[in-house]
Amino acid sequence: MTALMGSRGTGQAGQPTWWAIWAVRSAALPLPAEHRSRYRQEFLAELYGMPSAEQLHHASGVLSRAWTLRSALTEPDRLLRKEAAMAKPVRCRLRLHRWQRLRNPQGGWYRECRDCGKQDEFTRRGPADTIGG
Ligand SMILES: [Zn+2]
Repeated sequence: MTALMGSRGTGQAGQPTWWAIWAVRSAALPLPAEHRSRYRQEFLAELYGMPSAEQLHHASGVLSRAWTLRSALTEPDRLLRKEAAMAKPVRCRLRLHRWQRLRNPQGGWYRECRDCGKQDEFTRRGPADTIGG
C-alpha cells in the first residue's frame, strides 16, 4: 500500500480536518462491531466537501448522538415501536442526515439528505468558496 496521507488537509476547503476525522472515528467506537466500520466510513465520507465550520457542526452532532445511534442499532425494536409511523431511516430520525451538496438554479449551494430528502441551506460562517458570475 502506498501512503497517500499528505500533510495538507487543513485550510483546504473540502478536505476533512484532523479533528473532524478524530471526532467521527471516536463516534463510531461505541457502535456495534457489525455496524462500526460502515458508519465510520459514512461519517468520514460526509466530511468531504464541507467547509471546516460545517465539519465542526457535523462532527459534534455525530459525536453527541453516537450513543443514541448505538441503542437504535442494538435495540431497534424500542425505537421502532415509538416511531413506527415514521418510515425515516434511523440516521435521519437522529438528525444524522447523509448530506450531499447541491446547487440551486440561482447558483447558491444547499444540501439535501440522500436518505430522506430533507433540504437545508448552507450556513456560511467563514470564507467559503466564492462563486463568480
Ligand atoms: Zn435524512
